[in-house]
Amino acid sequence: MKLHSFNIANFRIDGGAMFGVVPKLIWSNYIEADDNNLIPLALRSLVIETHGRIILIDNGIGDKQGKKFLKRLNIFGGEGLEGGLARGGYSFSDITDVILTHLHFDHCGGSIMKNSEGQLTPTFPNAKYWVSKTQWNNAMNPNPREADSFLPENLLPIQEAGVLMFIEQAGEFCSGVELRLVDGHTPGQIIPVITIANRKLIYGADLFPTKAHIPVKYNMAYDLEVTKTMEEKTAWLNEFADTRAAFFFEHDTQSECGQVSNTERGFKVTNSYTLNEWLSLP
Ligand SMILES: [Zn+2]
Repeated sequence: MKLHSFNIANFRIDGGAMFGVVPKLIWSNYIEADDNNLIPLALRSLVIETHGRIILIDNGIGDKQGKKFLKRLNIFGGEGLEGGLARGGYSFSDITDVILTHLHFDHCGGSIMKNSEGQLTPTFPNAKYWVSKTQWNNAMNPNPREADSFLPENLLPIQEAGVLMFIEQAGEFCSGVELRLVDGHTPGQIIPVITIANRKLIYGADLFPTKAHIPVKYNMAYDLEVTKTMEEKTAWLNEFADTRAAFFFEHDTQSECGQVSNTERGFKVTNSYTLNEWLSLP
């Protein structure tokens, strides 16, 4: 198995929204806000090459919505979807499977692009697109809190192209890649757990979006059911803290991966690594 990670781009979002009831005086020790209270977030994707498959997990915001939309999100930096894949030696047509942890626009927007005729088509022409059935049904009938995060142009063209595949229950996706399901942030969010060199990498998605969201009580205001998120985080942290496992932080601009310890003051990232540093640990 080979892993390749890259940051497509960064964007800015309200700092308070990312930390719910945690006061700014505390969360700003982790991530500094600008004059508009915005904080930078990354859009990190992961490629898993294994058993003849090239699997891409999440794919950022995409660029089909145009400049106005992207300007509102204050997009900056990053390698781009195409550039980040190319650095790993991959092109769009190499991808065999796209796993979408969930369908909020900042996780699945790169799935669909505008072709030269202006039509919306799958960005990865040879890929199947995997999403949990629970999440798909939720996105098709969204509650008012989440509705703005589900953009029809990100979703319907996947179905229309006939490449939409459902994950109906947790389990092994392929050897070394397990998909689990959590519901606190949004119903049916997929959390991939990858086994490589006898250790586990947890793709944190929006269960553990940044290093600062490891403490159980540090949660996003976007979580639909925050008490469920805290139960889910506690179970995951109990399972993987103080092991060789690392959490991969999709939205953290500073820390790509972290190992977690259960300390006297709760769960904390005690070692931050790039993915390659973590992979080369003895
Ligand atoms: Zn989300």
